[in-house]
Amino acid sequence: MIQSISPFIKHVIATDPLPPPQPTLYEYLFAGNGIYIRAQRKELTACIPLLHTTIHGLPNVTPSLSLACPRIPEGIMTDILAHALTAWADPTGPKEALFHCGYDTDWSLSIPEQIRTSVSVRCTDPFTPSYAKCLVEIHSHHEMPPLFSSTDNQDETGFRIFGVLGHFGREPQILFRIGIYGHFFYIPAESIAELPQGVSDGFLPLHDKERMSGDIDELLNEDVDHNPAL
Ligand SMILES: [Zn+2]
Repeated sequence: MIQSISPFIKHVIATDPLPPPQPTLYEYLFAGNGIYIRAQRKELTACIPLLHTTIHGLPNVTPSLSLACPRIPEGIMTDILAHALTAWADPTGPKEALFHCGYDTDWSLSIPEQIRTSVSVRCTDPFTPSYAKCLVEIHSHHEMPPLFSSTDNQDETGFRIFGVLGHFGREPQILFRIGIYGHFFYIPAESIAELPQGVSDGFLPLHDKERMSGDIDELLNEDVDHNPAL
C-alpha cells in the first residue's frame, strides 16, 4: 500500500492475486501492464485500464466487471426503448430521453422529470432520488449514433454503468460503458442487459482511445439516415 494524501483514494501495487477492494471511493492499481482504476459498490465491482504501459516486475491485471445482481431484464429494456421511441416521435421534433435503472431486491426503472431537446437531455432536478440510487443510466440519442459525446463525458460522473441508445432511423442500437469517476471503459451489452429483439449492441472490441478519440461529436451532428425501413 502507498501512503495517499486523500482518504478517499488508495494506491495499490498489484500482487497476484490482487488484494480485495478497499473500503474507499476508488483505487489506482499499478500493474505489469499499466495503471488501472478499481471501484466497488454494493451491486458492482469494476477494474478498468487507464494507461497501457509495461512496468517490469509486477503481475498483469485484466479489466473486470463483477455484478452482484442479475442483468437488466428484457422487459425493462423494452420499456426504455418504447419511451425513447416516443420521445423521438415527439410532434415538435425528435427528443433525447433519460432513464435511471436501479437495483435493490429487483431492477426498477425510473424516468425522472427531465428537460429534453433534440441534442440534449438532463434531469430537471439534479438531486432527484433516482439519480443517487441509479446503477445504470441510459439516455437516447434517437436517430443519431449511439456514441458518447464530449458533453456526455463531462456529465457522466460517479461510479456506475452508462448506456446510450441511437440509430433509431436504422436499427436501434445501444452502447454501454463502465464509468469510474470520469474514466470509461466500453463493455458488451450482454454483460449488463438482456437486449430486446431488434436492438443491437454497439460495442466493438476496440481500444477505448480509438473509440473516444476522433470525431465523435462530428458524428453526432452528421446528417442521419431518415429511412424508416427498419
Ligand atoms: Zn449523449
